[in-house]
Amino acid sequence: MAKRDYYEVLGVDKNASTDEIKKAYRKKAIQFHPDKNPGDKNAEEQFKEAAEAYDVLSDPQKRQRYDQFGHAGVGGASQGGGFGGGMSMEDIFSQFGDIFGGHFGGFGGFSGFGGGSRGHRVNRGSDLRVKVKLNLKEIATGVEKKIKVKKYVPCSKCHGSGADGDNGMTTCTTCKGSGVVTRIANTILGQMQTQTTCPTCGGEGKVITKKCPVCSGEGVMRDEEVITINIPAGVAEGMQLSMSGKGNAARHGGINGDLLILVEEEPHPELIRDENDLLYNLLLSVPQAALGGTVEVPTIDGKAKVKIEPGTQPGKVLRLRNKGLPSVNSYGTGDLLVNVSVYIPETLSSSEKEMLNGLENSPNFQPNKSMKEKIFSRFRNLFD
Ligand SMILES: [Zn+2]
Ligand SMILES: [Zn+2]
Repeated sequence: MAKRDYYEVLGVDKNASTDEIKKAYRKKAIQFHPDKNPGDKNAEEQFKEAAEAYDVLSDPQKRQRYDQFGHAGVGGASQGGGFGGGMSMEDIFSQFGDIFGGHFGGFGGFSGFGGGSRGHRVNRGSDLRVKVKLNLKEIATGVEKKIKVKKYVPCSKCHGSGADGDNGMTTCTTCKGSGVVTRIANTILGQMQTQTTCPTCGGEGKVITKKCPVCSGEGVMRDEEVITINIPAGVAEGMQLSMSGKGNAARHGGINGDLLILVEEEPHPELIRDENDLLYNLLLSVPQAALGGTVEVPTIDGKAKVKIEPGTQPGKVLRLRNKGLPSVNSYGTGDLLVNVSVYIPETLSSSEKEMLNGLENSPNFQPNKSMKEKIFSRFRNLFD
């Protein structure tokens, strides 16, 4: 299913300020909050959609990538699968719980953030960053890459709890397992309740009494994983893709971080990339340019034959449609632009000199006024 535009999801303008985005998200989040719409799958989807939009638009870097590359720039590419599987409810509550304001509960609004995670703070693992090097051919088609990453995974013995067996953990006595403590403060508006994270258990609701011997109570251990990354076609140097949940595992069994994939582009020996177009410099001999003919130019997946008209000038640009790179963000494909240059011999034999001397005053070899104007206007266009 195609993703909706994030600005449209939140109902804000493209130039909306961070504050406007936050307000718009808060409104949507309240409207579609699961506490208000129990069992309503459609509301849940909209709640998730709004959170995903907010996740991107509230982060200046992600927002910039989204503006530039669309969903693909922030890991939402629809091609190849694998990317951006959306956010789980747990992700949303752990990341954006604060949008509802820590005080919300105290004003008789929402008591917590849904289902099993009510009140608890959920740990989130850190993001992992990897680089993938791609050549233009891989970029043109998109590619599947398998990479080995060293990362934290849940401990094999305690499965992330950090405790040594079922008896190694007990409910926190300070918060009685809720993960939060409620304070009542007297203010000029009257008594106000505020909820803060339990200082004893750090919000987890449980405390470890006997640590797991394998992970020393951390719940995570180092391991290696081979991850298959589907790179969509058309990516470019410096773009960052993300795979949700493929980063480090969290301590004590929380949510995994993301895997962030930075794209590096290997230069092509003959072709230069200009966004989705490719540039090639074609060097013709003087007779080829004057007489015309057919030449071959390199393309990403082989060679293309190009017809050279008799009398082709250096500086002429030939456009081979759709021989460039696909756009990562839309359906278009770039072109291959062939810039013609002409090789003037640097050394000449005496017989070659004689032939050229014979041509020097030949009328067709003299640039005339209209040709001078034509070439000058082409030169001037270079600076526009
Ligand atoms: Zn363990
Ligand atoms: Zn506690």
